[in-house]
Amino acid sequence: MRIGAGYDVHAFVPNRPLILGGVTIPHTMGLDGHSDADALIHAITDALLGAAALGDIGRHFPSSDERWKNAPSSVFLRHTLHLLQTNGWRIGNIDAVIIAETPKLSPFIDAMRQSLAEILQMPLQDISVKATTTDGLGFTGRKEGIACSAVALIESNPSSTVQSD
Ligand code: MG
Repeated sequence: MRIGAGYDVHAFVPNRPLILGGVTIPHTMGLDGHSDADALIHAITDALLGAAALGDIGRHFPSSDERWKNAPSSVFLRHTLHLLQTNGWRIGNIDAVIIAETPKLSPFIDAMRQSLAEILQMPLQDISVKATTTDGLGFTGRKEGIACSAVALIESNPSSTVQSD
């Protein structure tokens, strides 16, 4: 078994959708970024890549690459799952924290877990998403952006039959 950690921040900007965990959340602002700026998926992707020591999201999906402009971040996560499988790993569980003063995220937590479970082909009970505020402190407290942090556990999967490409 191995563990990995991931962290990501994106700034709020007007005229962009707010997408977290692949779920579009109604809000007056969205997150700025080259892709869809889904900070939750980016943190989870980095946690998974880190657990397998396969580099980071910037190495696999550089923002200099026009292919990833406005790309749905589910593409990154799906590709990461494939990378793990071809390297003989399966995902044990994921736990993530969204740090945001606004909007209120509790109504969307289960939809985010469901979305992540579908992308990663994992049981819902193995994916945890939590939300917290920083009590008005710092850039998240000033509502300048959203931070996400994630840990992932992966396990060696000797029965893996997926071939490397
Ligand atoms: Mg990011």
